[in-house]
Amino acid sequence: MRDPAVNRGRVRPIVARAMILLCVLPVGVALAGSGASTGATARRTVSWAARTMGTYVRVTVATDDSAAMSPEADRALAVFRRVDSLMSNWTATSEVARINREAAGAPTRIEPEVGVVLEASLRLWRESRGAFDITVEPLVRAWGFLGGPRRVPSDDEIRAALARVGAQRIHYDPPTRTLRFDDPGVRIDLGGIAKGYAVDVAAESLKVHGVSDALVDLSGNMVALGRPPGAGGWRIGIRDPRDRIPYLARLAITGQAISTSGQYEQFVARDGRSYGHIIDPRTGRPSEGLISVTVVSPSAMECDGWDTPLFVMGPVEARRKARQLDHVAGVLIEPGAGGVDTMWVEETLRDRLVLEPAARSFIRVRYF
Ligand code: AMP
Ligand code: MG
Repeated sequence: MRDPAVNRGRVRPIVARAMILLCVLPVGVALAGSGASTGATARRTVSWAARTMGTYVRVTVATDDSAAMSPEADRALAVFRRVDSLMSNWTATSEVARINREAAGAPTRIEPEVGVVLEASLRLWRESRGAFDITVEPLVRAWGFLGGPRRVPSDDEIRAALARVGAQRIHYDPPTRTLRFDDPGVRIDLGGIAKGYAVDVAAESLKVHGVSDALVDLSGNMVALGRPPGAGGWRIGIRDPRDRIPYLARLAITGQAISTSGQYEQFVARDGRSYGHIIDPRTGRPSEGLISVTVVSPSAMECDGWDTPLFVMGPVEARRKARQLDHVAGVLIEPGAGGVDTMWVEETLRDRLVLEPAARSFIRVRYF
C-alpha cells in the first residue's frame, strides 16, 4: 500500500490516473465524484469515490434512489480507512508497523482483521511454493517501493535483504491470534493482498445492507455484485500494460471478483530496462516473463492474493497453477517479439472475454 501523501504529485494527477486504472466499463459509465450519476431511466448507476490506501476507491451502485444509498456507500468507504489504518506499510502507527517492531521480541496478539489476512497469506505462500511471500518486505524496500527513491539495489544489498526473507520464519497461532517472528530481521508487507481483503469487506457491508447491484473498485481490485441496469454483468476492462489503447479486452463479471496486477503500476526504469514492483522472493529481483495478470475468482482477497504469485511464476508455471486451482481463472499477458504480445485466457473465461477490435494487430489470444 502506498501513502496518499507520498503518492501525491507522482506520475500523473490521481484523478486522471484513477480514471484510467479503474478499468470499469459499466453501461453508462459511472463517474468518480460524490454522488455523480448518469442515465435518464429510473434505475441508474451512481458512484462515490475517495482516496485511500495510496490510490483511489470507487463504489458504484445501481439504484433508483441514490439518496438512500449514500449512507451505505459511506459505510463501504469507511472500510478502506479502517483496513489502511491496520495494514499500511507507510506509517509507523499501523498495526502492521507495530507487528514489525514487536513480533521478533515476543509473541504478540494481533487484530482479528490482520489475522484473517495473515492466515490467507500463509496459505498462499504454501500453495504457491513461496512465490507469494509477505516477508518480501526488505526486498520491496530495497528497490524503493516502500518509500524513498525507486532504485536498483546492488547485488550485496539484495543478498542482505534476501537473508531476511522467508515465511517459514513467521509463526501464527489462530486460536490465540498470536504472532511471532523467528528472526529480528523479519518484516511483513501485506501490500500484495490487503486491497483485495478490503474490497471483500466493503462489498459484504453493501450486501448485508441490502445493496444487490454494485461494483466496488480499489485500483483494479473489484467485486461485482449483481449487474448494472440493462446489462447481464459489469463489463470490466483489462488495461493494456503497454498503454497503446486503454483496454485490450472486456470481461463480463457478476457475483464475482476480479483483479489485475501489472508491471505498469509501479516500476523503476534504468538503463532502458523497467523493473516492476512484484519481486521474486527466491531471486530478490522483480519478476519478468509476464507484464499483466488478471484473476477472476469468488473473492477479491483470493484474486489479489493470486495475481501476485502468478506474476512471479511466469507464463508456463502460472498457466499450470491457474488451471489447477478450481476457484481461480486467469488472463496472463506475455510480452512477445515484434510488438505482438500473447494474451493467455483460461478456457473457463473464453465465452466471457471480448477482445477490443483495435487490439487485434498487437495481441494474439491463446487459450489454456
Ligand atoms: P499487487 O498490488 O497485488 O500487484 O501486489 C504488489 C505488492 O505486493 C507490492 O507492491 C509489494 O508490496 C507486495 N509484493 C511484491 N512482491 C511480492 C511477493 N512475491 N509476495 C507477496 N507480496 C509481494
Ligand atoms: Mg496482489
